[in-house]
Amino acid sequence: MTHVSVAVIGAGPTGMTVATLLAQYGIETLVLERWPDVYPQPRAVHLDDEVYRIVDRLGVAGEFAKVSRPALGLQLVDEQLNVMARFHRGPGRCGFPQANMFDQPELETLLRDNASRYPQIDLRAGVEVTGVEPGRITLADGAVIECDYILGCDGANSLVRRSIGVAMKDLGFDQRWLVVDIATTADLRQWDGVYQVCSTRRAATYMRIGDARYRWEFQLLPGESASDYGTLEALRPLLAPWTEEPDLELVRVTEYTFRALLAQRWRHGNTFLLGDAAHLTPPFIGQGMGAGMRDAMNLAWKLAGVLHGELPPEVLDTYERERKPHARAMIRLALMVGRAMTSGGRLGDLLRRVVVPRLHLIPGLRTKMVDSTTPALKVRDGRVSRSRLTGRLYPGAPWGNGFAVVSARPLSDAEQAHADACGATVQIVSGATADWLRGQTLIVRPDFTVARRIS
Ligand SMILES: Cc1cc2nc3c(=O)[nH]c(=O)nc-3n(C[C@H](O)[C@H](O)[C@H](O)COP(=O)(O)OP(=O)(O)OC[C@H]3O[C@@H](n4cnc5c(N)ncnc54)[C@H](O)[C@@H]3O)c2cc1C
Repeated sequence: MTHVSVAVIGAGPTGMTVATLLAQYGIETLVLERWPDVYPQPRAVHLDDEVYRIVDRLGVAGEFAKVSRPALGLQLVDEQLNVMARFHRGPGRCGFPQANMFDQPELETLLRDNASRYPQIDLRAGVEVTGVEPGRITLADGAVIECDYILGCDGANSLVRRSIGVAMKDLGFDQRWLVVDIATTADLRQWDGVYQVCSTRRAATYMRIGDARYRWEFQLLPGESASDYGTLEALRPLLAPWTEEPDLELVRVTEYTFRALLAQRWRHGNTFLLGDAAHLTPPFIGQGMGAGMRDAMNLAWKLAGVLHGELPPEVLDTYERERKPHARAMIRLALMVGRAMTSGGRLGDLLRRVVVPRLHLIPGLRTKMVDSTTPALKVRDGRVSRSRLTGRLYPGAPWGNGFAVVSARPLSDAEQAHADACGATVQIVSGATADWLRGQTLIVRPDFTVARRIS
């Protein structure tokens, strides 16, 4: 019987991210994927600057830049495409654009090619997992693999989640949408950002995702299905507000049910859930895949630390504790945008015209809509001083994949001793990053999260 230390089930963006990060720490993984190749259908089209930095940590930021395009932001429009509110996106605090458009299969191909450079990753594609028990995986051909840790990155219908008896909590959203991908070299001459059409009749989303690729999403009305819109001719009335360009190629049209679900538990013993296996969100703010990559970033250094004997096993309890509230907050934000787009009948349409242009004035919403920064993690560290920055993502330049002590001035002997004790790299920063520190010296974790203040 084969024995591996870490088995990753699913080679989607979450599985490939966690396997690559673990490989960077020298941890060997066996990645099991049902399909022989990258899933070819377009799904995710947007990621933010925080997730781009994870792409950078994986080592493919340069290649990603070649297949993605920065977007100008998000605008809420009415059915005639009159702008009600516009939220700009530009260069992000993390050193990458705040909004980036891309095609998920292209990103997944990059992640797979990159993973092939790591001898620690054994990716077996075309292999279906049919059974999961604690420390034991069964494959479709009957083979059994024993493993110390199982990482369930197996998507929305996760077998791993069912096997450990975890239910999904329904956060109360269920809408059928038509997803349309179009290729054309014609310039549609639209604002180069995401349009959210707010309408109780039929909400919609439009965005340019590549030099010659466009995505529309339309809420389906009762009784409608994707088969009603299988041709360009049938789609023309829906596309008309944006374009009547004759030279369009229909890449794909399909139906998705957008839902908001959160796994009740993300861990059972040494089995963990990551990505869509742990949370599902409607794509209105383009954060679903990013959430899976954030999960991977959060868990990888902890698991590597435990496997190397450098961290106590209890650190693994913090994975769910930190990631679940963040995932919940991002789903709620997506629901808020979704409801702003679709709810309320004619009164809703009227209210939207009054309220939406003022959304940026509402405290709490302001930072979420105007800025791409996501909520702080609820980091609990029994040791010494917390800071108002604890749990926030450090915006400075990358330094490798260990801990860092960051300060705007040379470290004192006591601070240097702290740095030495956790094997941290010392970063003396200036400019905007120094301002962000507000005079504090901080310990930053390998996942860029501020752990605590040391002075
Ligand atoms: C229309 C649409 C638009 C979206 N837009 C965005 C967006 O703009 N931004 C964003 O961040 N996200 C977006 N998303 C969400 C994003 O696509 C998903 O969150 C992301 O694909 C999840 O990645 P994952 O690796 O967790 O799961 P998946 O991509 O589902 O990968 C899971 C993998 O596990 C494999 N697997 C499953 N079961 C088994 C088994 N038993 N044995 C072996 N292998 C198995 C599957 O074959 C699959 O390859 C969108 C989704 C949709 C549908």
